[in-house]
Amino acid sequence: MSVTPNEKKENVIWVDGRLVPSSEATVPVLTHGLHYASAVFEGERAYGGVIFKSRAHSERLKTSAELLDFEIPYGVDEIEAAKRQVLAENGLVDAYVRAIAWRGSEALGVSAQKNTIHLAVAAWVWPSYFTREERLKGIRLDIAEYRRPDPATAPSTAKAAGLYMICTISKHKAERKGYSDALMLDWRGRVAECTGANIFFVKNGELHTPEPEGFLNGITRQTVIELAKQRGIPVIERPILPEELADFTESFVTGTAAEVTPVSEIGPHRFTPGDITTTLLTDYENLVHAGGKAD
Ligand code: PMP
Repeated sequence: MSVTPNEKKENVIWVDGRLVPSSEATVPVLTHGLHYASAVFEGERAYGGVIFKSRAHSERLKTSAELLDFEIPYGVDEIEAAKRQVLAENGLVDAYVRAIAWRGSEALGVSAQKNTIHLAVAAWVWPSYFTREERLKGIRLDIAEYRRPDPATAPSTAKAAGLYMICTISKHKAERKGYSDALMLDWRGRVAECTGANIFFVKNGELHTPEPEGFLNGITRQTVIELAKQRGIPVIERPILPEELADFTESFVTGTAAEVTPVSEIGPHRFTPGDITTTLLTDYENLVHAGGKAD
């Protein structure tokens, strides 16, 4: 990481307890995390200087590491302090925060029992995952060829680097065809999620979303479910088959980076962002901007 992504400017990154200029925040080429995907990370957003659901993200980072059989040598409070420090030192108020933990470079083989575990926290300005124009029209989704893996074949509830290999391939393929992203099915052929966001559908005033089996139960997903319940919108978590996409009128994706983004197309199916999507998009916006009260 020589400069922060998107901004292309130097700032400071917290690495193993020290603040270092981003151009110096580098890892050796022979790093276990790079070769064997022994890395877990978080994507978070600060609004008005306060990270939305910050503690839940720090806790998920610790849990993801445990699922990959390593322990981050910092507690949740220390991770929280590091995130606050990075925002303050870089003078960032509305920003994206990326924490990443990985196995270091002592041994380079499948086994790396004694490798040092590292932690870094970076932050930069990342206004929206999708452009504003894309968001208001609703984004177009391809249907990915790769499927989310069976939880029996991968630690699928971890936010782990290795699980993103098929996401990047699928997203690139979709982008080359003119789509914004791709909807991924799970190993059984049921609707799962997008390459970096969860998915929701609307039918007859009800919200339908797949149960988080084999994919990340996003913090935004959980928040939107709560917001819908507060509005008295019935939320139905259930298996959703691709054939059912024709029956839904609205669809949107959720994620820290994507926030609540309406969907207009999935393969041959068309959706029109309507009342439920707009209500939840606005409720989510209001909640994240409510600052400290959101946690
Ligand atoms: N699924 C995947 C694959 C993701 O990368 C993300 C973004 N972290 C999500 C879902 C949504 O998670 P969250 O709402 O916690 O950001």
